[in-house]
Amino acid sequence: MSILSSQPGTAKELAALGAEWLPREPLARHTSLGVGGPADVVRIRDARRIGDLIAYIDDRGAKWRLLGGGTNLLVADEGIDDVAIHLVRDPQGLKFEGGRVEVATSSNLGTTVMECGKRNLGGMEGLVGVPGSVGGALHMNAGAYGTEIKDVVRAVTVYRGAAGRVEILWTDKVHFEYRGSSFAPDDILLSVTLELPEKPYAEILERVKQCNQKRRASQPINEKSAGCIFKNPPGVSTGKMIDELGLKGTRMGGAVVSERHANFLVNRYGATASDFVSLMDLIRERILKAYGVELEEEVIVWKN
Ligand SMILES: Cc1cc2nc3c(=O)[nH]c(=O)nc-3n(C[C@H](O)[C@H](O)[C@H](O)COP(=O)(O)OP(=O)(O)OC[C@H]3O[C@@H](n4cnc5c(N)ncnc54)[C@H](O)[C@@H]3O)c2cc1C
Repeated sequence: MSILSSQPGTAKELAALGAEWLPREPLARHTSLGVGGPADVVRIRDARRIGDLIAYIDDRGAKWRLLGGGTNLLVADEGIDDVAIHLVRDPQGLKFEGGRVEVATSSNLGTTVMECGKRNLGGMEGLVGVPGSVGGALHMNAGAYGTEIKDVVRAVTVYRGAAGRVEILWTDKVHFEYRGSSFAPDDILLSVTLELPEKPYAEILERVKQCNQKRRASQPINEKSAGCIFKNPPGVSTGKMIDELGLKGTRMGGAVVSERHANFLVNRYGATASDFVSLMDLIRERILKAYGVELEEEVIVWKN
C-alpha cells in the first residue's frame, strides 16, 4: 500500500488534478500475464497535467512507476508499494503533418501502425502485432520482423522527473538498444514524433497480413503471456535453446513453457507470479548448465 492510501482526501485531491484514484487495484487485471498483486493506481487523462500530479505524489513522499499496457510486466503476487501511474488513452492521440505524426504515448501501438497506414505512411508494419502502448514500445524499443520503433522516431516529449519539467529530446539525445532505451526511470514519455516513409496503403496492408500470419503461426497469441520472457543473447535464439533442452510444456504451478514458442511462458492454469519466477529460474539454470549462457530477462519485474 502506498503512503497515499493512508491519507484522507486522496481521491478528492486527485480528482481536482483530473486524475482517478484506484486504491489497492489488483494489477493482475492490468497485465497480459494476468498475475500480480495490488497497487494504488492513478489514471490521468490530460498528460499536460502530469507535472502537477507528480508534484502531488512527491510532496506526500510516495514513489511511483509508469504502467503502460502491462504487456511486458511480471508483477509480484504481493503487489507493490509504489503508485502505478497510467496515462489514459487519448482518442485524439495522433496528429498528422506531411510525413510526420505526433503520437500520444497512451495510444495503442497496433492502432497507430494502422492509422498511419491509412494515410499511406509505412515503415512500422512489423510492429503491428506488438501489443501495448506507444509509450511502452518506446521504453522497451519494441521490435519485430526486422523493424524496431527507434527506426522511425525523430523526437520524444518527456516529463523529466529529476528536472521537474517537460523536455523535447531529439533522437541524438536518446540511446535505443535491443529491447531497451536510455530513458531514466523517472522519465515519463508523453508523446513522440514519428517520421514515416510514404507507401501505398495496399502494400502496407499486404505486409501487415504477412506479419500477422507469421505471428499466429509461431506464437501462442490466444494465451496469456508477456511475449518473449528472456532476451536473445547476441546471435543466439533463446527459444531455440529452451526447445533443444526439451523444456516445451514444462509446468510450474499454473505457468507453462509454451509448446508453440519456447521463449513464451503462458498462464494456463491460474498461475501466480511466483509460478512464473520458479519456471524462469529453472530455465535460467538449465541454459547456464547446458550452454554456459546467462539469460537476461526481457520482461520487466515489478516487486518491492
Ligand atoms: C503476445 C505478446 C507478443 C509480444 N510480442 C512482442 C514483439 O514482437 N516485440 C517486442 O518488442 N515486444 C513484444 N511483446 C512485449 C510487449 O508487448 C512490448 O514490450 C510492449 O512494447 C510493452 O508495452 P506496454 O505499453 O504494454 O508497456 P508495459 O508492459 O506497461 O511497460 C513496460 C515498461 O515500459 C515503461 N513504460 C510504459 N509506458 C511508459 C511511459 N509512457 N513513459 C515511461 N515509461 C513507460 C513501464 O514503466 C515498464 O518499465 C509482446 C507481448 C505479448 C503479450
